[in-house]
Amino acid sequence: MSKVNYCLNGRPVTEQVVLYRDGRKSEDFLPILFYYENYKDVWFKQLSDYMDRMTFESEFDFKLVHAINTFNPEHAEKNAIVKSLSRLGNFNRWFYKILTNWKSNVKTSSFRMKKRPPVTCPVCGRKVGRIDENHLQHWKSKSDLPRFMFWKGMIYEVMTKPAVYAVTWGDRTAAKWRDLKEGKTKEYSDQKRRVRWPWRISDGSRGVLCPFTKRVVPEINEEHIRSLADKHSRYAEPLRWEEFIVLHPTALIQAEPYSLDYVVNDEEFFLGSMVANAKSEDDALDYDEIKSGKVNQRYEYTFKTVDQCISDGVDRDILKMIASGYEIDDIAETLKMEKKHVRRRVRAIRDCKELEQLLRE
Ligand SMILES: [Zn+2]
Repeated sequence: MSKVNYCLNGRPVTEQVVLYRDGRKSEDFLPILFYYENYKDVWFKQLSDYMDRMTFESEFDFKLVHAINTFNPEHAEKNAIVKSLSRLGNFNRWFYKILTNWKSNVKTSSFRMKKRPPVTCPVCGRKVGRIDENHLQHWKSKSDLPRFMFWKGMIYEVMTKPAVYAVTWGDRTAAKWRDLKEGKTKEYSDQKRRVRWPWRISDGSRGVLCPFTKRVVPEINEEHIRSLADKHSRYAEPLRWEEFIVLHPTALIQAEPYSLDYVVNDEEFFLGSMVANAKSEDDALDYDEIKSGKVNQRYEYTFKTVDQCISDGVDRDILKMIASGYEIDDIAETLKMEKKHVRRRVRAIRDCKELEQLLRE
């Protein structure tokens, strides 16, 4: 980490900004960019709930350029004197103000979006504004791309467009690769560095490396992602709308109480009205409903995951009951089992790492 307020070349960052602004030479811009690289992790941590890393990186760089262009050294100087602040931090204070504004805008606009709550797709478990034919294709987007890839024994950050520099995290070791993929980047951050752009397409111009095929392509965009095999291009199985309606007749396809349930007979009608009203958290499922699998959307994805991971029928039932709010006592009574047996099974299920992973996703 560089010294506070100083670039790696020893020049105060405020001075460096003014120097770059006067000459507009890219070699004067790089020290500023390197200086702020060190702060990206801290800011990303505050915004990671709202955007993926790649979006963050480009927004941050954009804000930095904006801050440089709008910085008023004379005004900052006066302000520092009036408030008796260190003049070394003049530009940092300005940039901090811009970043703080950005952060609060991001958070407010996402709050506004939350006012119309999204629905959970029973097929993939993702929250979406509306389930439609397009969503059911379950195409990955650029934000589903992995953050890291390896190439010629080195780990690189995935980039979707060619740039001047690529970012490498050094040699690929099994432990580092595993940690980085799990988001444990901290202990390796000193190995992170920029390198000259390494990938070229056949005509000699810059291209990007596809993390899946390891082929160099002009750009990773929607079209490229969709050209890949299903396991790379989709995050869940695609479904036609007609199939979806048949498989999930009671699914809520958007947040308004508007469901696809067809009134076929009385029992279905009952279920339909229950789903439409199942907004409150306190509708407990009864055991027959759990057994029959006719559950509302809130439980549908969870139950499907349980079915996929747990082969033992009793374990499945126990887990589904826990998911729908049953206590150990209730489970023991419903299944006519001894409490200690229920407890033992619950402990065993808890050790199932795969399930834990799936449910967290
Ligand atoms: Zn889906």
